[in-house]
Amino acid sequence: MNTSNTFFGHPIGLRTLFLTEMWERMSYYGMRALLVLYMTGAATGFNPGLGWSQVESQAIYGIYSGMVYFMVVPGGWIADNILGHQKAVLIGALIIALGHFTLAIPFEQTFFLGLIFVVLGTGLLKGNISTIVGQLYEGQDDKRDSGYTIFYMSINIGSTLGFLICSWLGEKIGWHWGFGAAGIGMTFGVIQYIKHRNLLGDAGMHPNEMSDDKRKKYTNYLKVSLIGMFSVIGAGLLGFFAIDPRFFAEQFAYFLTIIAGLYFLYLFIFAGLNAKERKNLILLFLLFIGAAAFWSGFDQSAGSLNIFARDYTNLAILGYEIPVGWLQFANPVIVVLFAPIFAGIWAQLARRNLDPSLPLKFAIGLLFMALSFFVMIIAVKIALESSPVGMQWLLLTYLLQTWGELALSPIGLSAFSRYGPKRYMGQMFGLWFLASAIGGVLAGLLGGEALDGGLETISPIFEFMIQYYLIIAFALIVLSFVIKTAKE
Ligand code: GLN
Repeated sequence: MNTSNTFFGHPIGLRTLFLTEMWERMSYYGMRALLVLYMTGAATGFNPGLGWSQVESQAIYGIYSGMVYFMVVPGGWIADNILGHQKAVLIGALIIALGHFTLAIPFEQTFFLGLIFVVLGTGLLKGNISTIVGQLYEGQDDKRDSGYTIFYMSINIGSTLGFLICSWLGEKIGWHWGFGAAGIGMTFGVIQYIKHRNLLGDAGMHPNEMSDDKRKKYTNYLKVSLIGMFSVIGAGLLGFFAIDPRFFAEQFAYFLTIIAGLYFLYLFIFAGLNAKERKNLILLFLLFIGAAAFWSGFDQSAGSLNIFARDYTNLAILGYEIPVGWLQFANPVIVVLFAPIFAGIWAQLARRNLDPSLPLKFAIGLLFMALSFFVMIIAVKIALESSPVGMQWLLLTYLLQTWGELALSPIGLSAFSRYGPKRYMGQMFGLWFLASAIGGVLAGLLGGEALDGGLETISPIFEFMIQYYLIIAFALIVLSFVIKTAKE
């Protein structure tokens, strides 16, 4: 490793990962902000969309978000056993760029194919790049945590760029320009990664040690799965069968929940854990439920809240109608502004020995989320009387959600790696992102229900969500008294 150079006092390799993740998130969030607007946009006129229904479009958005994070699990396996993390990130980034460029070609088939490429590429990139961050630090735990904090900033700088560029191009010039811009962003990321990959040294270079025979066997499994998968996808794209998106999203939600449940059960019963490890696993299970519930609200930003911004919010600033996606700036900007403040608050509290336990922090995250949807219910009420409403409603909603994110998301990852059974460490990232996957698909399903009958049907769904946030938050608060030791 090059030691003469550092990145904010961290190993210089962090810069390579920072810039790669920044461009990847630029493309991810930039494209995501356009997705439901494009699907539900009128099929005629300037910048024609696909003219699909809210229920269908939100379900497709949910399936997409769920798949993106679900694929982190096989992506981790492929990196661990076949490619190594560095190569997995490179191939992932290339596939993502290909996906966005495919989306830029204006056909229905290329739309779905593009989404599939982005899903597969992100599966290879997202979890594995986070793993390499950890591998840059050998045995320096404190440094590693602040490394992850810097890395979390790259996510937010990236998404700011994405909203700025893709939403403007996509909404004001043409959807496919926005998708293409996401592809160009990812290409910058690829070029940068190839140029500076050597700075990573040995981190994430080698897959797990195993015999050549075994590796060959695993590679063959992978090849067969890929052939099977692309045959099904190809048949679908050629119109041999059709899928009802909402039905598929529902089944997918059950599937993900069952997989997660079985995995926890497997660890609990068969992984030979001792009493303390079992207790920690119960803690992680409850945090997992909290995280999945949290993301089911958070991911409404590109779903139902994006539509609320388009249809019921006044977007004019000094006579200029801003792109709908620009309201989502609020999230990354608030993360960057408030992350140090949150870190400061936790540190102050810790000095007085009042640092909230992990379940309590997750409960705080969910309470902010509940509050944000309460604000939206008021906004909907006002919109029912006279629409459009001012943009302060959505901005306040995003402020509260982002405070929630800061209480929950940056510590969630480190909690899973710290409290997960040691022998299963490699899979803990996958498990954490599985909660995001469940949240994503639920977001699409709930968003579709909410918008099914225009403004009228929004509040009952948001009320339902508030109820489950409160129930889970309450359970976590009770738990925080039971498990006193679980500090982050
Ligand atoms: N905003 C974070 C990111 O993009 C977390 C997203 C998630 O886990 N759902 O990485």
